[in-house]
Formats: sequence, structure tokens, C-alpha cells
Amino acid sequence: MNIVIFGPPGAGKGTQSNLIVKKFKLYQLSTGELLRQEIKDKTNLGDQISSTMSTGNLVSDQIVGDLIEKYISNKIYKNRLIFDGYPRNLAQAKNLENLLEKYDQKIDIVSVNLETIKKRILERKILEKRSDDNEEIAIKRFETYENNIKPVIDFYKQSKLLKVVNGEATISEISDEISGLIESIKG
Ligand code: ADP
Repeated sequence: MNIVIFGPPGAGKGTQSNLIVKKFKLYQLSTGELLRQEIKDKTNLGDQISSTMSTGNLVSDQIVGDLIEKYISNKIYKNRLIFDGYPRNLAQAKNLENLLEKYDQKIDIVSVNLETIKKRILERKILEKRSDDNEEIAIKRFETYENNIKPVIDFYKQSKLLKVVNGEATISEISDEISGLIESIKG
């Protein structure tokens, strides 16, 4: 079971993924977290990406693709991944297909929240005080999402994998909805 969860910044993807991870013993692969960890650890990669991240733009497809391949290729995580924050554009969606095929895996569910909940971004700004979350950058991240995600949604619409979750629902309602989908697939 591999799952992609996407939705606008601040829509609670991380929290939903967390709940599902615990329930189904999956592994949450958050590209945003991986990238922030590189910056925190002051790695060479961290130095390269910190300015891009602080402007709310996307880090290069190559860098993020290499990071996720490490997990997809690792047998420990085989068929146990929840992709949180990847793919972010059409090139990444195609890359994910190719990588999964390379390691003999596939996506089982793509869950998207189409709601554009600016209010939640601002709430989270106050709650988390993340360094990339000042108001201006939060809005930029939101716009970056909107500018890139439409082709990704269209890409997944062509497969039968796309499940649209109700953005007005609470995080736990959404996670219940996704859990139901997983259970129906696991049969
Ligand atoms: P959010 O979903 O709230 O935007 P994330 O933690 O997913 O937060 O991402 C934070 C930042 O990390 C993004 O603004 C972007 O710079 C970078 N990032 C995360 N995932 C990707 C990705 N798949 N491709 C490129 N950049 C990414």
C-alpha cells in the first residue's frame, strides 16, 4: 500500500498522514520535513536549498527526486509509504511513477483536498512558528502550490486512483475517510 496525500499548504496533510501511519503501520515520507532536516543538519544540500525554501518556491525536482528514491529503494519501506508533499508538479508525478515502477511498486490511493483554506495557513503560522511560515511566505507557498498542482490533479484523474476528500471536514473526519479507503482496498 503506497499512498499520496496532497492538498494546499496548511490543509492538515501532515496531521492526517500521521493518524493513518499509526493505524496502518505505514511510513510517512514528508519531503518538506526531509528538506528542513538537511538545513538543520547543515549539510551541503541544506546550504543549497535554504534560500529557495525561505522564499516559498519549490526546491529542484532533481534534489527532491534523489531524496525520495532513497526511501523508495529501501526494502524496509517497500509498499508502506505515504507521500506527503510529493509530487508537487507534473514532472514529479511522472518521476514518482517511474521510480515506483523501477522498484516494483505502485500507488494505491491518491487523496487530494481541493479546498483552499488560507485561514488554516495563518492559524498554523501562529501554532508552529516554522521559519518558512511568515505571512508573506505562507501566501507565496500557497500560490506556488496553486500554480503547479492542476496538471498533477489532471494526471491522477486519468487513473482511477484519485479520491477527493472533503476539505470542509475536520482532520479526523478526513483521516477516517482515508482509513475507510485503505480498508476497502486491503479487503
Ligand atoms: P507545505 O505543504 O505547507 O507547503 P511542506 O513542508 O510540504 O509544506 O514544504 C515546505 C517547503 O519545502 C516548500 O515550500 C518547498 O520549498 C519545499 N518542498 C517540499 N516538498 C517539495 C517538493 N516535492 N518539491 C519541491 N520542493 C518541495
